[in-house]
Amino acid sequence: MRAGSGYDSHRFTDTRSLVLGGVAIPGGPGLAGHSDGDAVLHALIDALLGAAALGSIGQLFPDTDPELAGARSTDLLSRVVDRLKGEGWHVVNADITVITERPRIQPHAADICRRIAGLLGVPRTAVSVKGKSNEGMGWIGRGEGLAVMAVALIDRAAD
Ligand code: MG
Repeated sequence: MRAGSGYDSHRFTDTRSLVLGGVAIPGGPGLAGHSDGDAVLHALIDALLGAAALGSIGQLFPDTDPELAGARSTDLLSRVVDRLKGEGWHVVNADITVITERPRIQPHAADICRRIAGLLGVPRTAVSVKGKSNEGMGWIGRGEGLAVMAVALIDRAAD
């Protein structure tokens, strides 16, 4: 078994709608970024790649690649899951913390868990999504953007 951790942060922008964990969340600003800005999936991708020691999201999907402009992060995650499968790995579980003052994550957590579990091919109970405010401190407290931390465990049969 291998554990990996991932982190991502994105700036809010009014020119996009918000997508977190592959789920559209109405009513707030979206996230800027070369892809769709889905920081939840980006942090999760880095946790999975980290667990398998396969590099980082920036190496696999460089933000200089015009083909990835506006890319759906759900597609990027599926490609990473396929890559892990190709090396014999399967995902055991993932735990994700979203740090933001808004929107509140908890009302959307079940939908996000279900969506991610589907993308990972794991039971719904193997995915956890938690929201935390930053108690009004710093750039997150000022509502400039949000940050995400993810931990993932992967497993494969002994070599
Ligand atoms: Mg990102």
